Amino acid sequence: MSHSDLLDELRVKPGDAPRLGERDPGARLGAGGKVEGLELLAKRVERLGVLHNRLYAEAKRAVILVLQGMDASGKDGVIRSVFTGVNPQGCRVESFKVPTVTELAHDFLWRVHKVCPERGEIAIFNRSHYEDVVVVRVKNLVEEKVWRRRYGHIRAFEELLGDEGTAVVKVFLHESKDKQRERLQERLDNPEKRWKFRAGDLDDRARWDDFQQAYEDALRETSTEKAPWYVVPADHNWSRNLCVAEILVAALERLDPKLPEPVPGIEEVKIV
Ligand code: AMP
Ligand code: MG
Repeated sequence: MSHSDLLDELRVKPGDAPRLGERDPGARLGAGGKVEGLELLAKRVERLGVLHNRLYAEAKRAVILVLQGMDASGKDGVIRSVFTGVNPQGCRVESFKVPTVTELAHDFLWRVHKVCPERGEIAIFNRSHYEDVVVVRVKNLVEEKVWRRRYGHIRAFEELLGDEGTAVVKVFLHESKDKQRERLQERLDNPEKRWKFRAGDLDDRARWDDFQQAYEDALRETSTEKAPWYVVPADHNWSRNLCVAEILVAALERLDPKLPEPVPGIEEVKIV
């Protein structure tokens, strides 16, 4: 599959339903197999480092990578593996947890806008404002009319970011319920991973279908020309990581950040 075919397959076309039920979370996309996939990932990781360096040096545009997905869909894993070549100077991870009292005392985008990247930066959103139309809906934390009107607020917010120079790249890590069982069990069984497990994860798992429906609607309502959603099959780590790397590299290639023009005559300078 060519690079652009891959991105086309993953992208939710504006106005279309993502049809999550028809997409296979176990698909291995982006490479023929794991060995080839890991080699390709290494290349994308390297390219990402180069493009990020240019973005940082140019200091005119910024990127947000939104990562959404059920527990154990691999948000943390993607961050760990895709960003190994990115200079931590100029890159930030923002994790969105259950809102604090202060956050709840403001509109839902307040805490998000505050941590948007500066020009030159990449911000990785480990969860995001999409929690406010997904978990909030599933758990009935606000009335339906409130979460429904948020789709429009989110589209307008992301349009503002785009107009002002911040590209918003949105990835939904599409995991199967079976794979989640396996991964949550592994968290319980492995002492190094046990800290990640929270009892609340099981409540969310029990409402699996409601979450899928909430994601189905959120992705359909907010996939736009400038900020489309990508649905990445997330059951296989290597293919998941590779797909996210491909999406991010393509987004940066589109921005095509430029190194600043050298000061005239600088090539002649010899340091003594
Ligand atoms: P984790 O990302 O696994 O560390 O967990 C963070 C938890 O915070 C998840 O269960 C999210 O669903 C929850 N969360 C994040 N944002 C919100 C929000 N706006 N309202 C309610 N719960 C949220
Ligand atoms: Mg969790």
